Amino acid sequence: MPNIDRYIDEGIARHRSQFAPYTFSHRGNWIKVTSLPIPAIGRMRVWVQVAPPPQRETDVASGAPDQSQPSMASAEAALINDLADGIALVGKDGRILSTNGHFLQLYGFSDSQLVIGRSFSKLYEELWTGHQTPKTESLKLERSRALEESIRFAGAPFEVALPGERWIRIAAQRAQDGTEYWLHTDISLLKIRQKESEAAEQRARKSEALYRLLADYSGDVIVGLDAASYVRYVSPSIYAMLGYQPDELLRQPWYELRLNDAEGALNIDEGVHTPQAFQALHKAGRAVWVESSIRAVPDKNAIDEIRYVIHLRDISLRKQVEMQLQRANADLAKLATVDSLTGLANRRILDDTIDNEWRRARRERTPLSLLLIDIDNFKTINDHYGHQVGDICLVRLAAVLRNHCRRPADLCARYGGEEFIVVLPNTEQWQAEQIAKNMLLQASQIRVDSDPNRLFSISIGQATISPATDEQGWRTLIHAADEALYVAKRTGKNRIVTASASESRAVILQ
Ligand code: GH3
Ligand code: MG
Ligand code: MG
Repeated sequence: MPNIDRYIDEGIARHRSQFAPYTFSHRGNWIKVTSLPIPAIGRMRVWVQVAPPPQRETDVASGAPDQSQPSMASAEAALINDLADGIALVGKDGRILSTNGHFLQLYGFSDSQLVIGRSFSKLYEELWTGHQTPKTESLKLERSRALEESIRFAGAPFEVALPGERWIRIAAQRAQDGTEYWLHTDISLLKIRQKESEAAEQRARKSEALYRLLADYSGDVIVGLDAASYVRYVSPSIYAMLGYQPDELLRQPWYELRLNDAEGALNIDEGVHTPQAFQALHKAGRAVWVESSIRAVPDKNAIDEIRYVIHLRDISLRKQVEMQLQRANADLAKLATVDSLTGLANRRILDDTIDNEWRRARRERTPLSLLLIDIDNFKTINDHYGHQVGDICLVRLAAVLRNHCRRPADLCARYGGEEFIVVLPNTEQWQAEQIAKNMLLQASQIRVDSDPNRLFSISIGQATISPATDEQGWRTLIHAADEALYVAKRTGKNRIVTASASESRAVILQ
């Protein structure tokens, strides 16, 4: 009892490494134990009560009919009997002369008399009787022939299959007198392991082939780098993307390939980054929009020293669409700042422009002039000729006004329905008045219809401010021009009224 733990441990270890059946006695009963590892399950063990084995001295049977054949001495016989492998002594005529106990156990014979004097081929055939399935039946002939061949050229070990997924390796040794010693070893466990590893290898080969296939036929490019950033793998699609053959890039330092001109676009220091878009250089010299992402491979997963996997995707098409979209958006933005009828700037950019010009005028101590223009009696024109004719008048007037905004900084905008505003930076009051006069004159030449008496006219409120001396903001300027325009309307229309600090000065044509 003090050693019970050790006995159990040793017993378990013994059982684990044991695959040949063995017999032992327990409380007077003889028990045969068969034990086989079953993949993925564990181990199957079968206990069967058997007849007591023959005494040691008579353990090795010697019922050979030919007494002239040598028989084993009892000491040797005892030794041979203790061997874990099965041993058979075979005469010149191929008949079994004697066997040890393990031989009988291996093949499941209860008595040596059942095997003595018979050929192994016959025994072997018998073992399969009752185990035949249509499949094994077709193999039977082949199996017997192979066995005969192996026996004939005994010397090289060979393997035979037994029912129930068991295998025996047989090695024969021929003595000078022609008798043979056959050593039978149960290699079922080895075979099972071998089959398992073959299956695993096949699975691995298949999955590797699968990944190769995916990498090779993907439109995206997969690059594998080692720890020093040297290229270890490039998928063939690199040719379609950047014009290189994979061989040209293999074993090259990634950074020196200069696939990209954007510095740091492929910064692998962090090991992982979100996809980045950059322009890679095609071998032919043109730029290709590429999206790249990098991942570090954990050491334990590294194969062929690959530590980083780079994924490149051609995004030229996407970029093209993006750029088209950008252009469309720019056009839209422009639309939002341009009046669709007249093509002049609309009120949205007016505030910005005046504000900027106001600041500039203040910085540069220059005058800033403004004209507010309103069509006279436009409602009547609309009512009389319809909106379409009204629109034509608006377009024509816009052309006239634009025509007089000669400097790049001049801004002509549609302020409201039939009101326009002209911002004239760095323009003195008298200059602005001159421009307004020209506008008034040209506008009066616009013909609404063929009736020469039907006159078209505008009124203009004009204001000039010198931001250097006038500390009030640009809104005051608009307000002043608006008031001047009101005065122009009230005093008869078709005129220019200039707002000045002291008084409103009217310029009336005609
Ligand atoms: P006043 O001489 O005092 O300026 O009189 P008016 O009739 O020109 O002024 P009012 O403000 O009474 O009418 C402006 C008219 O302009 C009314 C409106 O229908 C017209 N209008 C505004 N925007 C447009 C447009 O885009 N197209 C056309 N055809 N008419 C417009
Ligand atoms: Mg108006
Ligand atoms: Mg009007």
